[in-house]
Amino acid sequence: MPIDATLPYDDSNIFARILRGELPSKTVYEDEFALAFHDINPQAPLHILVIPKGAYVSWDDFSERGSDAEIAGFVRAVGKVARDAGLVAPGYRLLANVGLDSHQEIAHLHVHIFAGQPLGPMLAR
Ligand code: 5GP
Repeated sequence: MPIDATLPYDDSNIFARILRGELPSKTVYEDEFALAFHDINPQAPLHILVIPKGAYVSWDDFSERGSDAEIAGFVRAVGKVARDAGLVAPGYRLLANVGLDSHQEIAHLHVHIFAGQPLGPMLAR
């Protein structure tokens, strides 16, 4: 079920539980601002999720309430994860779903990194 990105943050979501160490994840990278791990149901040969450590529902929430340090740290972490995975030369796609029409399912901001093959058109038609 897609989530309503206008609702307040609820820390029972799956990614909050991963951040608290209550659920396992295949960690790729971690720093003060971000955690990156493999998607449980990959939709490309490489499918990594990068989440901020702070409690933000979506890109909308983060861009409005995140501190400058959190935003800079998170954006740099997304870039570093992709760079360290060797994805700049072959290319990759970033995606962040926000709310109902996007079909965002987990109410903690996550940026998808898709890579590992030509990814085709941006959206299904
Ligand atoms: P959304 O549709 O919210 O943008 O994407 C949610 C993503 O989280 C999906 O790609 C889904 O496969 C992934 N996901 C859902 N539950 C888990 C989980 O428990 N662990 C991991 N690693 N990924 C998950």
